[in-house]
Amino acid sequence: MEQQRMMQTEILCCTTEEEIKKAATSAAEQLLAGQVVAIPTETVYGLAADATNEAAVKEIFRVKGRPQDNPLIVHISDLSMLPLVTTAQSEDALRLFEAFWPGPLTVILPRADSIPAAVSAGLDTVAVRFPAHFVAQQVIACCNKPLAAPSANRSGIPSPTTAQHVMDDLSGRIPLILDGGSCSVGVESTVITLCTENPRILRPGFVTKEQLEEVLGKPVEVDEACLKASTAGQAVSSPGMKYKHYAPKTALTLVQGSLDDYISYAKANGFTAAFCFEEEVSALSDAGFTCVAYGRAGDDVSQAASLFDALRRLDELGVSSAVGRMPSKDGVGLAVTNRLIRAAAFRVVDAKTGASLSETSTEQPV
Ligand code: AMP
Ligand code: MG
Repeated sequence: MEQQRMMQTEILCCTTEEEIKKAATSAAEQLLAGQVVAIPTETVYGLAADATNEAAVKEIFRVKGRPQDNPLIVHISDLSMLPLVTTAQSEDALRLFEAFWPGPLTVILPRADSIPAAVSAGLDTVAVRFPAHFVAQQVIACCNKPLAAPSANRSGIPSPTTAQHVMDDLSGRIPLILDGGSCSVGVESTVITLCTENPRILRPGFVTKEQLEEVLGKPVEVDEACLKASTAGQAVSSPGMKYKHYAPKTALTLVQGSLDDYISYAKANGFTAAFCFEEEVSALSDAGFTCVAYGRAGDDVSQAASLFDALRRLDELGVSSAVGRMPSKDGVGLAVTNRLIRAAAFRVVDAKTGASLSETSTEQPV
């Protein structure tokens, strides 16, 4: 069992430009000394470390309790940092950088030697992103080093989209959190690999398949693991996909169907808590359910922005189980669906028949 050194966790507010400059300087001091620091990005809060310092990178895995074979994303604040991270910049890569950076897109490329193998869990590829968040950019620029940063939560639970979420998870385990308010996107970056025969999405996010295809001018594949449970021992192209993820303590069951059928299913099966859309709260409350809403029906962007906070609020109800409304899989809805089915441990049922709609085995490797 790991021994955790407890420490005082400081939160620095990053509202004014002056506060941001001061906070970025403090964060850079810690990072260059090999510490890990939580920083805001437009997707979720990240737990950052100097990507070129192997010991610091290992500290990320220890603090998060992250499995060693789940690689990290490396963040840059200027294209001039790219040669430190990757050996190759193909035509396709340049098109993606031009169209989507800075922003919520991560690109998998061949790994440069200055990035220790531990960052990529031993793979000869590396995931790289140029975040759009001003605070993240300032911290990276202040360090003048690429920063490895997964989500700043304990592994397995919903990702943090506020500084308070990070505090709830990592208080006493890290020295510093920069508070940049709520994350605007709310789900992690789209991950696309350019290291396969055809470009392939390994994790859906705010940048959609349609947008990527338009910029690349060719079809983009979506990895099977995005919407399916992997079976034990199965090889996966994105190692992170095989782990238990985003899970609230509340056992969530997702129900596909109309609101009326959903209510009938929920009542017949003894559920009292509903994870639903904002417009449905009043009807569901009238029907006797305690509700937590995750965005508006048919508005994938609002669903993404509130999903992780809503999953945390669901746990605050203190109920053992809840029944959730299924989002659409279109556009950013694919990212919302990808996170939500994992939060529900792949329990997806048809509202009318109660039949399981989970696409493969729910058996998960540990
Ligand atoms: P997180 O750090 O939690 O945002 O997760 C990063 C995601 O990117 C995980 O799903 C990883 O499996 C994936 N990833 C990172 N680096 C690579 C890589 N070199 N090859 C494939 N997937 C990667
Ligand atoms: Mg994560």
